[in-house]
Amino acid sequence: MTGILYVTDPGVSSTAQIDNLGKFLGFHSKVSKPCLVVVAGDYSDMTDVQEHEYFQQLVRAGLSEEDAEKRIGEEKAQPGISFYRPYQPPIPQPWYAADQLYCLYSDLFRMIESNTDVPIILNPGNHDLIRPYQNAFKDSKSGRIFNPEFKVEKLNGMNVAAIPGSQERLRFVDDRTYCWKDLSLNELLRQLTQSVEEHGQLDLLLTHMPPQAYDHESLLGFGCDRTPDWNLLPSRNMITDQGPRVGYNLTRQYVQIHNPHLVLSGHIEEARHAQDGTLRAGAIDKIGASIVVNPGGFFPNWFETSPVGALIDYQDGKVQSVSFIVGEGLSSTVRS
Ligand SMILES: [Zn+2]
Repeated sequence: MTGILYVTDPGVSSTAQIDNLGKFLGFHSKVSKPCLVVVAGDYSDMTDVQEHEYFQQLVRAGLSEEDAEKRIGEEKAQPGISFYRPYQPPIPQPWYAADQLYCLYSDLFRMIESNTDVPIILNPGNHDLIRPYQNAFKDSKSGRIFNPEFKVEKLNGMNVAAIPGSQERLRFVDDRTYCWKDLSLNELLRQLTQSVEEHGQLDLLLTHMPPQAYDHESLLGFGCDRTPDWNLLPSRNMITDQGPRVGYNLTRQYVQIHNPHLVLSGHIEEARHAQDGTLRAGAIDKIGASIVVNPGGFFPNWFETSPVGALIDYQDGKVQSVSFIVGEGLSSTVRS
């Protein structure tokens, strides 16, 4: 068996959450003996990091702790303003969070390495900051962590490549996060194409942002790129209807042209399917001959009270089965 253990969007902001991820990977590595472990972004929950840092910054700027807290509370209460406010003037830049994020990434990567003994592939998301991520990645000493960003690496006989981040959104416009404008992504995809042409058929493509898919391509009903309908969402636990599909058309085109056998995506943490009348974490799309899997955000997950991931049996250039994992058990298995 060629098993791939996959989790995405851990969004950690504390040591306890890093431990939680380590335990999950350790348990499933022992039980399922995968030959490849993939942990995809968003690794950090930038919102939390920034709020804490913003608080410190306000105090350094002369506000009392009480006033700093009040200011943050007022800003958060303003309708229509996301708490990515620290990105905008007059608070000049997000680099104040870089050291803290670097430590977080380093701890996280060490935890992943210590719980598996096979090659590990990383792929940062739009919540990750480029410089601290890359520094922590370079510091890894095991030689088992790979970051095949816009290039093909051969791992366990598989051609693996990654498209990190997502497309531009207003609050992330800067050159420090993994967020692409269409034009710059086009250029990077050309690089990737060159690498694919040198290596041959892609086995595994990681795309943080799911490729756009259509309803008839969803194997389990909802799709890797479908959000809930936010207008009909009274609370996190009551998903009453399907919202739009928000996958990325450029990655879809890329998948259609290069037909990777397996595409692992994330970003849409609420990816889900229905089983016995209950919504469960995880979705599968089939675009052409490519199988796309998004297990949904690691933890906390919208539909499960334990951490989630996926185990994919990949043999002879073909996805044999996809199993979604919840906690220490298998949730549902789809065979092709
Ligand atoms: Zn994301």
